[in-house]
Amino acid sequence: MKASESVRQYFEQAADHLELPDQLRTLLLTPRREVRVQIPVEMDDGRIETLLGYRVQHDNARGPMKGGLRYHPDVDLDEVRALATLMTYKTAVVDIPYGGAKGGICVDPRKLSKKEMERVTRTFIDQIHDVIGPRVDIPAPDMGTNSEVMAWIRNQWEKYHGFHPAVVTGKPVEQYGAEGREEATGRGVGILAFKMLTRLSRKPNETRVVIQGFGNVGAHAAKFLHESDFKIVAVSDISGAYYNPGGLNIPKLLRHSLSNNGSLEGYDTAEKIDNDQLLELDAELLIPAAIGGVIHDGNVDRIKAKYIIEAANGPIYPSADKKLDERGVIVLPDILANAGGVTVSYFEWVQNLQYYKWGLNRVRQELDRALSSAFEDIWQQSQQRNVSLRTAAYIIAIDRVRRATELAGIG
Ligand code: NAD
Repeated sequence: MKASESVRQYFEQAADHLELPDQLRTLLLTPRREVRVQIPVEMDDGRIETLLGYRVQHDNARGPMKGGLRYHPDVDLDEVRALATLMTYKTAVVDIPYGGAKGGICVDPRKLSKKEMERVTRTFIDQIHDVIGPRVDIPAPDMGTNSEVMAWIRNQWEKYHGFHPAVVTGKPVEQYGAEGREEATGRGVGILAFKMLTRLSRKPNETRVVIQGFGNVGAHAAKFLHESDFKIVAVSDISGAYYNPGGLNIPKLLRHSLSNNGSLEGYDTAEKIDNDQLLELDAELLIPAAIGGVIHDGNVDRIKAKYIIEAANGPIYPSADKKLDERGVIVLPDILANAGGVTVSYFEWVQNLQYYKWGLNRVRQELDRALSSAFEDIWQQSQQRNVSLRTAAYIIAIDRVRRATELAGIG
C-alpha cells in the first residue's frame, strides 16, 4: 500500500465522524504546493550525479508549514506527500501554530562522503530557498539528516536572505539550536506512555515493555521509561533483538550503544532473538520505534501486547490497525506519540524569533505540558465518541485545520 493511501484511510474515517462534506475533504487533503527539483552534484571522484529532491507544502491554515527533510533511497513524491499531510495533522494535534510540510532527497546518505553530503544539501537549498523561510516553511531533521545538515541549510539560505536562524530547526545547540531537542521525541514517547498507563490504572513496575529500534527515539524512550520504573524486557536494532524476561539493564545498553557507534551489536548480557520474534513477545506495552509497516496482516494475530505506542511513523498497516482495535488493543497513534520532536522544534523557532535562549528545564516542562494537554483532549474525545485514540486524534486535528481554514476564508 502506498504511504499516502494509509494516511487517506485514517483521514476518511475521522472525516466521516465529523460529517465533513466532500469538497472540504478534497481541500484538506490536497497539498498547496509540490516542488520537485534536479540536484546535480559533483562527487569526490569528479563524476556528476543527478539526484531528485522534493518539498511538499501541504497546508498553512494554522501557521507556517513545518516538517523534516529525509535523505533515503526510497524517497519519492508519494511518500513525501503522505508525510507532509501527516505533519499538518501532527502539529494540529499538539496545537502548535504550524501547518505541515516534508522534504526529501532520493539518495543513500551512507554512500556519501561528508563533503558530498554538504554539496547535495547546499545545491538543494539553492533550488528551493525561495519557497522556504521562517514565516513560510521551516525544515528540520528526519531520517538520514542531522543537526549538521541543518546548520548547512541555515548558512546556505542566509546567503540569499540574510541572518535568520529560525529558517530551520534541529540545529546544533551552538548554532541557535534548542537544549533538549535531541531527546525530545523519545522523551515525549516516555511521557505519553506514562500518562496512558496511569489512565489505565497500570503501575509502571508491573508493566513489561518491548522497544523496537534503539536509535534517537528508541534509546531516549528506553532511558525515560527505565527511570520511571517500567520493566523493559527487550530492545532491538538492525543488528537483532536483545531479551531478558527479568528486565534489561538499560544504562548498560545505553553505554554499549554509545561506545559502539550507536549499535547494539555484540551486547552479550541478554538473550539474542530475531526482530520478528521481538514484536510477538509476551509483554504489556509494545513500542515500535524503528521503521514503518512492521505490524501487518501477516503478524498482527500473533501480537500479544495490550498497548502499542507508535513511536515510528506508520508502523501499523491500516488493515492490521483495524484488527487490533477489534481485539481491544489500545494504540497511541504516531501523530501524537512522536510529536515531541516537532513540539521542541517549535520551542527552538520561538527562541530564535525572540533571540532568547531557554534552559533545559523550561524546555522539558513546556514539552510535558503540551503533550499532556494533547493526550487529555484525545483521551476525552475517544471516550465521548467511543472511537480509537487514532480516530479521536484525527477528529481533533482535522477539526482544528478545518476551523482555521474556514475562519480565514477560502479563496
Ligand atoms: P534512527 O535512525 O536514529 O534509529 C532507527 C533505529 O531503528 C536504529 O536503532 C536502527 O538500527 C533500527 N532499525 C532500523 N531498521 C530496523 C529493523 N528492521 N528492525 C529493528 N530495528 C531497526 O531513527 P530515529 O530518529 O530514532 O527514528 C525512528 C522512527 O521515529 C522513524 O520512523 C522516524 O520517522 C520516527 N520519528 C523520529 C523523530 C525524531 O525526532 N528523531 C520524530 C518523529 C518521528
